[in-house]
Amino acid sequence: MKSNAQTRHRVSTNGKQVTTLNNNNMKSSPASGQWGRAWRVDIWTFFGCLFVLFVCPILPLTFYTSCTHHECSLVDTAYSLWSGTLDFALPAVSGFAVRTYYTWIAFQILLSALPDIVHFILPRYVGGIQPGAVTPSGRVNRYNINGLQAWLITHILWAANAFYFKLFSPSIVFNNMGAFMVLANITGYCLATFCYIKGRLFPTHENDCKISGNFLYDYLMGVEFNPRIGCWFDFKLFFNGRPGIVAWSIINLSFASRQYETFGHVTDSMILLNFLQAIYVIDFFWNETWYLKTMDICHDHFGFYLAWGDLAWLPIMYTLQGFYLASHPVELGILKSSLILLLGLVGYVIFRSANSQKDKFRKKKDKCKIWGKSPEYIECSYTSSDGVRHQSTLLVSGWWGVARHFNYTGDLLGSLSYCLCCGGGHILPYFYIVFMTVLLVHRLYRDEHRCKCKYGEYWTLYVQRVPWRLIPGLY
Ligand code: NDP
Repeated sequence: MKSNAQTRHRVSTNGKQVTTLNNNNMKSSPASGQWGRAWRVDIWTFFGCLFVLFVCPILPLTFYTSCTHHECSLVDTAYSLWSGTLDFALPAVSGFAVRTYYTWIAFQILLSALPDIVHFILPRYVGGIQPGAVTPSGRVNRYNINGLQAWLITHILWAANAFYFKLFSPSIVFNNMGAFMVLANITGYCLATFCYIKGRLFPTHENDCKISGNFLYDYLMGVEFNPRIGCWFDFKLFFNGRPGIVAWSIINLSFASRQYETFGHVTDSMILLNFLQAIYVIDFFWNETWYLKTMDICHDHFGFYLAWGDLAWLPIMYTLQGFYLASHPVELGILKSSLILLLGLVGYVIFRSANSQKDKFRKKKDKCKIWGKSPEYIECSYTSSDGVRHQSTLLVSGWWGVARHFNYTGDLLGSLSYCLCCGGGHILPYFYIVFMTVLLVHRLYRDEHRCKCKYGEYWTLYVQRVPWRLIPGLY
């Protein structure tokens, strides 16, 4: 498709090419402040809402039941369901599980309230009070970035207990998985309901709320953009990062402990999985300020999708491989381990370097180098709902010139490597790569719709310059 806008190329002082548009010829100018989630709900979106609200919560329970009663065989589970012989009971929730779960959440809230000290000790780490992106109403929130500190304190305490204090078993998560899953679901629904009511009755920033009029859609996708309690307790930052992502590496360690207790050793596949996923988790906290510029913070409102997703879906479904390996040990051997490690590292390097290129470029513009050269980019502008016009840029160099979402491609390669750790015995652990593909492809369309609304013809120009979404030459 050819853009109707006239483009001009000029060369800046340092010799790089900058693309600008002749605004007088723009067919459609970017809508002001309209780039958040949808205002109108069509029938397909409505069915999508029903699916996420009523089908997705069944999946973690199904997978748990499959592993506890059907040897992790989804085929056997499906056959039992079909033939009416499914051995199923909702996991019992003990008082101990309730106390442990809510102590965990309270402990993470406490850690999130502490001032960050780590950025004084590690000079290259960006922590402390940091600004987020411009919201659709033109506001810039400030965040207390201390996730790495919270992760470190939690893991130091975890190790101290496992090797010294021995107050509780390191396999505590595996041993209480069913109860924690029930509690996480209840808490996820309660949080989503609270946020819906808060968004309707006492939002933190009224100008950044969206109400489509369709209850199910608003409940699922959220009303408030950045709900907060007080100045610093930010729902999005807290619930996505901690307790969910801090828990990820703790849960994996618990699964490794369980394998050790049951089989007397930890397999190479379990070590590899713990290592690869720990890289991803530590990377998230090391780059927590970068997270402030991702879609979760810049696009999504806080509803069931994020609340339940962070509390119930993430800690259960993202850790499925470890849960599987805890009871189905797999020895990969040196060759397979090396190939999976290589795949995981290549995926991680693409994921991280693509995200860092954009981050570095947005901060330093012409002053940075991408793959040793001055960056090429498209200069663009957009208008927030307060009517203020802002300048922005779309990078065309590096990975952002290879495909428009090559950071997702790297993420998918990494996700595949986690699944491959589980060998070929069952399909259950491969659910993660299927889910990530659906999530990121859907996200890609949502992001492109948002960017088109925000940047108008500037985005069309970028699509012309970089025609591939995920895989050059293919898609
Ligand atoms: P991106 O980090 O790709 O951010 C998208 C935004 O970047 C756009 O909305 C736009 O925002 C800006 N942008 C787009 N193209 C360009 C360009 N060429 N130059 C400069 N800026 C551009 O997407 P996400 O937030 O979805 O994902 C971040 C990372 O998190 C990804 O690597 C993804 O794989 C990962 N992820 C992982 C998940 C998981 O569950 N493991 C879930 C979701 C994401 P604007 O211009 O408004 O600033």
